[in-house]
Amino acid sequence: MMTNALILADIEGIIGVNETFGDNAGELFTQEVELCINVLLENGIHKITVCDAHNKGDMILPRITEGRDNVKLVSQVRSVCFAEKYDFAIMVGYHGMEGSPGIWPHTYRYDIKQTSIFDKRLGKNIPIGEVEIGARWLGFHGVPVIFVSGDREAAYEANQFNPYRQASCIRTLLQTEEIKIEVLRDKLVQDLKSSLKLDWDLCLSCDNSPILVEFYHSETADALVAKGYTKFINVDGSEGITFKSCSELVSEIHHIAGLLNQIGFEVETANIAFLKEVRELAKNLDKDAVANSEAGPLLSTSLTLLDKVARDKVMVILRSMVNGSV
Ligand SMILES: [Zn+2]
Repeated sequence: MMTNALILADIEGIIGVNETFGDNAGELFTQEVELCINVLLENGIHKITVCDAHNKGDMILPRITEGRDNVKLVSQVRSVCFAEKYDFAIMVGYHGMEGSPGIWPHTYRYDIKQTSIFDKRLGKNIPIGEVEIGARWLGFHGVPVIFVSGDREAAYEANQFNPYRQASCIRTLLQTEEIKIEVLRDKLVQDLKSSLKLDWDLCLSCDNSPILVEFYHSETADALVAKGYTKFINVDGSEGITFKSCSELVSEIHHIAGLLNQIGFEVETANIAFLKEVRELAKNLDKDAVANSEAGPLLSTSLTLLDKVARDKVMVILRSMVNGSV
């Protein structure tokens, strides 16, 4: 029987990577993926598709396919083709969710504050990250994720809902001891080999829960609702947009990213214009008095976070200062 594997690769959880761009990062990324390819080919896997899932999907060097007609490289998750049947997937180089004490933790984008799914037993929303979302998306397509490597957070998230799949922690934010790259790669190889001995079917994730996506800027969710997405307000008052499943979110993620870029640009443009207006209004006011007023902290909010409520409040305070009533 032909065995077909999918490698989803991200860069933040690659051994030895100290920055996520540049030639050195690309080289380390490529070396680690090549290592995984070799382990799979040497252990009975016949065909491999590698997906460069980081950012624009152009960091893994094309040499990984050279001389190997059974290895294919695709760019970004939207290029993964499920007409092909994968027996299993491995996730290499992953990182923790936004807000976790990991190495470059984030969930897709830095304007996303949290993605979570409702757990009936606990009666509350459980935050999940790219590892779990990826596992559920692949689960929806019938592909079990048998192995996840990356930082401690990624390894934790690999077993957040499934204690069985093989996690391989090869970095941690709090690392105190210096450990050589070769030694850590050795561990990765051992763990990857172990994962091949698992009952792959038991690693299949179910993708049957709606997912809530929350944003840092208070107006982002409404801006996306205006573009046709569905709003959801949580029992705790937090709000965002919701998707039927992780696979639905993954299939929309590139479209959403485009909209978020546009929304972020509009917020910044509005705030730059607002600050210009503030400077004009406050030009005759004492700077310290403005800084020490209730408007002070609001005015030091970042351009990407300041919202209409804050802007209106600042204007009310400044106008009353100008009018001498404060
Ligand atoms: Zn990445």
